[in-house]
Amino acid sequence: MKEVVILGAGYAGLRALHVLQASKEAFHITLVDRHSYHYESTSLHEVAAGTQSKEKITYDIQDVVDSQKTTFLEDEVTKINRDSKTVHLKSGKELTYDYLVVSLGFQSETFGIPGASENALQMVDIDSAVKVNDHLKEKMAEYAQTKNEDDLKIVVCGAGFTGIELLGALVESRPSLAKIAGVKPEEIQLYCIEAVTRLLPMFDEKLGNYGIDHLVDWGVHFLTGKPIKEIKPGSVVYQVDKETGATEELAAQSIIWTTGVSGSHVMADSDFEQRRGRVMVSSDLTDPSHSEVYIVGDVSAVMDKESNRPYPTTAQIALKMGDWAGKNILRQLKGEATQPFTFKSLGSVASIGNTHAFGVVGKTPVKGYPASFIKKAIMDRSLFETGGVKEVLSKGRFDFYH
Ligand SMILES: Cc1cc2nc3c(=O)[nH]c(=O)nc-3n(C[C@H](O)[C@H](O)[C@H](O)COP(=O)(O)OP(=O)(O)OC[C@H]3O[C@@H](n4cnc5c(N)ncnc54)[C@H](O)[C@@H]3O)c2cc1C
Repeated sequence: MKEVVILGAGYAGLRALHVLQASKEAFHITLVDRHSYHYESTSLHEVAAGTQSKEKITYDIQDVVDSQKTTFLEDEVTKINRDSKTVHLKSGKELTYDYLVVSLGFQSETFGIPGASENALQMVDIDSAVKVNDHLKEKMAEYAQTKNEDDLKIVVCGAGFTGIELLGALVESRPSLAKIAGVKPEEIQLYCIEAVTRLLPMFDEKLGNYGIDHLVDWGVHFLTGKPIKEIKPGSVVYQVDKETGATEELAAQSIIWTTGVSGSHVMADSDFEQRRGRVMVSSDLTDPSHSEVYIVGDVSAVMDKESNRPYPTTAQIALKMGDWAGKNILRQLKGEATQPFTFKSLGSVASIGNTHAFGVVGKTPVKGYPASFIKKAIMDRSLFETGGVKEVLSKGRFDFYH
């Protein structure tokens, strides 16, 4: 019997699993993930800020596994050997495949900035998001004892999509953090340090400014055009003058790193031709040198012919790629030709807290409360596409405004 191995049970991996499990063809699937649960990466900032519980954005992978067809292994992938068609796991196990779906997702990218990995908090999975929240609460509790102003300062490094969404959630969690510290919400100081001056380039300037202006009105201090040079324990060093290289330092006890992500290190460790953990795939989403290896989601780069640049890595495209890879494997199993991947973005919406959002749906700009409703509908659709009706219902996600 043919063996299909799926590495990673994120958006892309579970979508591929769903398509493959629905087939009547006889083959076996092995799904591997380092966690026993699936988590919605698009809501990690809410867990970090404490506005959402981790239970609400996770579910057991076994819930979506058809045990007649699929074996789930909770293990860590360390290396893929495409010549021998094997996958090495941390436990020492070795898997053999006929078809492989690599969907190992993203990791934090520090761009070699000194101290970024050691001295800033990351937000890349459930454990790290929970750690951010625990840290914030700990610093607030410390302030209540020490009255050290730096305990009340939170710095978000990077004003990309993730950084902006995190700032929105932090604004919302300020009252509960303030309660722990015994201060007024506005005494908790939120900063964002960013290298570029034109923020959120995926949106037109007016729309991007809508979100930024709201955050500024809510008390967020933006330091833009200030490349971060170093993260020290308890402070961020950033450049203030390009000509002279002069720097300044902002002291803060909570520093959160959201400047960017790369694809999983497993791609480089396995000698894929990759850049920042992403492989430029063939038109049918396979590895250019191995037609039985599909590379999907954040470990993959697909050219957008319109912009002549790779599509941005998002959950939206990851779901579509997982779906496509599953269908192409079914075609290959039947001896048919694979089909080239096509993608049309439905737009993107950034949340700034629970009741505000802004973005573009199709070509239409959306803002404010209606946009936040659309954002929640998008998140529920993603949950539906990986977990089905059962997970959407069990998470109580029809209650849009928690
Ligand atoms: C805070 C935040 C907000 C975001 N908001 C949006 C948004 O609004 N819209 C949008 O479209 N995108 C958004 N994104 C981007 C989106 O989350 C990613 O593009 C998406 O998660 C990629 O899906 P994926 O399936 O490739 O990987 P992931 O969802 O990251 O899944 C990867 C899976 O692989 C597993 N894994 C990783 N390494 C190993 C290993 N070595 N061994 C075993 N298992 C492993 C992980 O446990 C995980 O289950 C956001 C991201 C963040 C962080």
